[in-house]
Amino acid sequence: MPAFDDSDFGVQAPTDANQIRKQASNNAMADGMAASPGSNIPIPGDDGHGSAVEVPATRSSISEASKYMHNLSVSPSQKDRRGSRNSFGASLPIPRSKRQSRLSVVNHADGRPTRPGMPPIQPTREILVSQVQTIEVQKVKAAKNMAFAFDIDGVLVHGDRLIPEGKRALDILNGDNELGIKIPHIFLTNGSGKPEKPRCEQLTQILGNPVNTEQFIQSHTPMSALAEYYKTVLVVGGVGYRCREVAEQYGFKDVVVPNDIIAWDPTIAPYREFTQQEAAMSRPRDFSKCNIDAILVFSDSRDYATDIQIIMDLLVSENGRFYTKAKDPVSQRIPIYFSQGDLLCPTEHWTPRLSQGAFRIGLEAMYRAMTGVDLERVVYGKPELATYKYADEVMTSWMEQLHGEEKLPENIYMVGDNPASDIIGGNMYGWNTCLVRTGVFQGGDNDENNPANFGVFANVLDAVQAALKKQLGDDFKMHFDETINPVLHGGENDNAAVV
Ligand SMILES: [Mg+2]
Repeated sequence: MPAFDDSDFGVQAPTDANQIRKQASNNAMADGMAASPGSNIPIPGDDGHGSAVEVPATRSSISEASKYMHNLSVSPSQKDRRGSRNSFGASLPIPRSKRQSRLSVVNHADGRPTRPGMPPIQPTREILVSQVQTIEVQKVKAAKNMAFAFDIDGVLVHGDRLIPEGKRALDILNGDNELGIKIPHIFLTNGSGKPEKPRCEQLTQILGNPVNTEQFIQSHTPMSALAEYYKTVLVVGGVGYRCREVAEQYGFKDVVVPNDIIAWDPTIAPYREFTQQEAAMSRPRDFSKCNIDAILVFSDSRDYATDIQIIMDLLVSENGRFYTKAKDPVSQRIPIYFSQGDLLCPTEHWTPRLSQGAFRIGLEAMYRAMTGVDLERVVYGKPELATYKYADEVMTSWMEQLHGEEKLPENIYMVGDNPASDIIGGNMYGWNTCLVRTGVFQGGDNDENNPANFGVFANVLDAVQAALKKQLGDDFKMHFDETINPVLHGGENDNAAVV
């Protein structure tokens, strides 16, 4: 079973907002987060106009290298209050509100806007739906006060393959229910490596239901907030140059990838065979004359040897400049961020494969061996608090898109297959958690360490139906009846016309 590299809530995070900001600011300076010596990191929110929110990290700054160097046990347990892997004792910036629509401007060819998250419907049905909803006021209110957050892999799909119950569950939430109402749902995945738009287009096709970028969070999505902190960043991981594309879409001004550095000086990575095609697509420059301000690991490394060498060179350099070596490895060290911390991930192979968390732990161990000090770093993704806070932001703005009400529903259901990320994160964030048996979890009645608080279900459809019945009544119908006559179905609105 895939497990997470979670660790303890070592250090109590401050609760007062000013204290958090002050501490974040102090830590940022102490940790050399400044873009250049003497400059200050702007703390968004101080002036009330920033576009990012800082979420306090939920654990201490100490790397996990020493723990894993002695003991490779990886069984996170909620009993031990595990669940986060961060970092600095500082904060994780997330975008203040919904992402800019530049990521997801979708219009019909004739210029009409699409109905985000909704399938095309016939006008007659629209009228009928509005009549039904006018009568069922209480149920409509309850339906607008609930929402779902879906993990994707192992819940709705297996890789590129649809889990059939996933399509049916989304059909219901997109209006095939007795109210004809759209029930808000977002997608919350630790997946990475592709821009949001093509990923959503691919999911739309597989799921047979619209997946809009405005309801979609992958591991590196909240990291777009870092664009206002750092100008020149090294982006690591993913296939080819795709993560450069992702970072540029997030608004990062100057995105460097490892291949740019190899193209400048191939001796940096002695074991790397650099193809002409790779050289043609890279953007070399004299990296001994400019600083990298931060390292962002967006996705799984495709070449551990090269990526670790380049990251290590930067971490021990003076403020992120190649061909230099810092006198003080801590104060002159540039910050490093990881988009998620999964140690393992399930694939077609019979046992899970090493993932970004394994890469990080290896790097932490090497850094400690080289410098004698722990590496401080920030990890985003489930089950980190910042990712869930960002999910709130996305859910609120999605509510506005669907129902014109910019508010966060009270009853949120997380449906996931991995107790060590989906469930522990949802539990700690106060969500109702549903564990499904179509993915990672293959256990008994419930997971022992991170039990789902709403229950364990055979598949996502069972989970969604149970949640709808809990909020909307046991008799709630999972189908919209086109032949319904609202007048005959018990309402005080006797004037409702029949279409
Ligand atoms: Mg999953």
